[in-house]
Amino acid sequence: MQHAASSALVVAGWHRMSYKYSDNSFISEELEKHIRKVHSIVGNACTDKRYIVFGAGSTQLLNAAVHALSPDNSSSPARVVASIPFYPVYELQTDIFRSVNFNFQGDTSLWKNKSDAGTEIIEFVTSPNNPDGQLNKAVLHGSNVKTIHDHAYYWPHFTAIPAPADGDVMIFTLSKLTGHAGSRFGWAIIKDEAVYQRMSTYLALNTMGVSRDSQLRSLKLLKAVLAGGGRDIFEYGHETMKKRWEKLNKVISMSKRFSLQKNLCPKYCTYFQKISGVSPAYGWLKCEKEEDKHCSAVLQAAANIIGREGSLFYAEDRYVRLSLIKSQDDFDLLLNKLNELVAGEEGPKNM
Ligand code: PMP
Repeated sequence: MQHAASSALVVAGWHRMSYKYSDNSFISEELEKHIRKVHSIVGNACTDKRYIVFGAGSTQLLNAAVHALSPDNSSSPARVVASIPFYPVYELQTDIFRSVNFNFQGDTSLWKNKSDAGTEIIEFVTSPNNPDGQLNKAVLHGSNVKTIHDHAYYWPHFTAIPAPADGDVMIFTLSKLTGHAGSRFGWAIIKDEAVYQRMSTYLALNTMGVSRDSQLRSLKLLKAVLAGGGRDIFEYGHETMKKRWEKLNKVISMSKRFSLQKNLCPKYCTYFQKISGVSPAYGWLKCEKEEDKHCSAVLQAAANIIGREGSLFYAEDRYVRLSLIKSQDDFDLLLNKLNELVAGEEGPKNM
């Protein structure tokens, strides 16, 4: 809202009608340049000598990457795994696009001590993690293991940036950088040329690239982000998320019934050049009472709070995910309701 005019876009009706850009590609060279520039000022990913592809949100790139990292025409399909709690789309998408070349095989830890060198494994590593904000690292290693690093939340709003990410396949999204989830724009940064070619083929056949309107809007938004070195959006985003986390923590710390993820700690952020406070996108709330086995039902019944139940993330329903990336009004409402709920824990106070 503070940059409404400089981030606005008008396109004449006759403009940009073709499938492709003038260099015959589906990718705006100008947008690619700006993406590299954003990473270079934030210092959150290495882009030197890497390839970049665009997707309709990072959602499209998740399966494009699974496809590209799977063996072609092999008798043993790649096993796709992720560490619980994990973002549900990894499994749901891998299942719906079921292929002879890959299938979803559940929790990463099940494969940790198995030396099945003949079978390819594709590990999704989400850092910071959705739902619990942890800076996860790859669990599996070896010549038969490929890793897809989902860095949707690896921006100064949500975490300190200790060092540039350097994975072979890294996925980012505008949804969590500027918040424009509806523009459906994401990108992957890829080290290996063959993987890049396979992902590009997938994207060309699946949707013939990303909408040029989306690309144009994304470019306009990134230009607004980059004006002033990104300070406006990253300082605002980080401060907002940090304040929300502090407020949420304050109310939950007074509760005996609920707790929040504890192992997030302030770290040195190379972007802010100082220790940066904790500012995750989600609260991963736990119901501590033995009888509160279904935490999202407890919150819904007691305070009309809607969260995502733990089992959606393949964890126990004793956990529930509370989104902190809503509008300020929605967040304030959530906080009020939690305050009332926690204040009422001891029952009515004696006068
Ligand atoms: N990865 C993670 C970890 C996410 O949380 C999300 C969105 N919730 C996505 C990918 C997909 O985002 P999009 O398709 O909007 O880029």
